[in-house]
Amino acid sequence: MICDDAQIRDRGMAARGRFAPAAPAMLKFLLQGLRRPLTESPPPNDPELAALAASLDQTARKRLGRSLSIRQVDAGSCNGCELEIHALNNAFHDLERFGLRFVASPRHADVLLVTGPVTKNMKEALERTWRATPDPKWVVAVGDCGADAGVFAGSYAVVGGVASVIPVDLVIRGCPPSPTDLLRGLLTLLRT
Ligand code: SF4
Repeated sequence: MICDDAQIRDRGMAARGRFAPAAPAMLKFLLQGLRRPLTESPPPNDPELAALAASLDQTARKRLGRSLSIRQVDAGSCNGCELEIHALNNAFHDLERFGLRFVASPRHADVLLVTGPVTKNMKEALERTWRATPDPKWVVAVGDCGADAGVFAGSYAVVGGVASVIPVDLVIRGCPPSPTDLLRGLLTLLRT
C-alpha cells in the first residue's frame, strides 16, 4: 500500500497520540536505571577458596615448574558442572590470579577436566583429545555423571562414566561439585 503525505502525517499523529501516555513511565524507568549502580558491589573474599587456590599454584610450580593448565571437555553433560567450572574463572572467584589457566587446546594441557556421562557421539572426540594431550597428563572425571554416568546411566545414548573410555586419575563427585570441591580435588591430584 502506498500512502500519500497526508496519510503519513495523520498516521504519525495517531501513533503519537497512542504512545504519548507511555512516555512518562518510560522516562521514570530510565531514570531509575541511571540512579542504580552500574555494577554489583565486589563480593567478599572467600579465604578458604583463596587459600586452596594459592596452595594449588604452589604445588603445581613445585611439581611442574609452572602453573597448571587445564583443558575442559564436555563429554555430554547437562552443563550444570560447566557452570561451576566456569565460576572458577569468573569475576567472583577470579582464580587466574593464582595461575590456574584454562587452555583452548589439549596440546597445551596438563589436566583434562571431563564432565558428563560420555555420550556415544562424544566417545571418539574424548579419545582423540586424550591422545592429543602430552604425557605426563592427568584425567579428572567431574560430577556424578563423570563418575558413573549418574542420572543418565542406562540411557541408549550413553557409553558410561569417563573411566569406561579413558584412564581416570581422580573423580570429583557431586551434582554438580562446587568450585571449592573442584579446587580440593585438583590439589589432591597434584599432591599424590
Ligand atoms: S553431575 Fe549433575 S550437574 Fe553434572 S552433568 Fe551430571 S546431572 Fe549435570
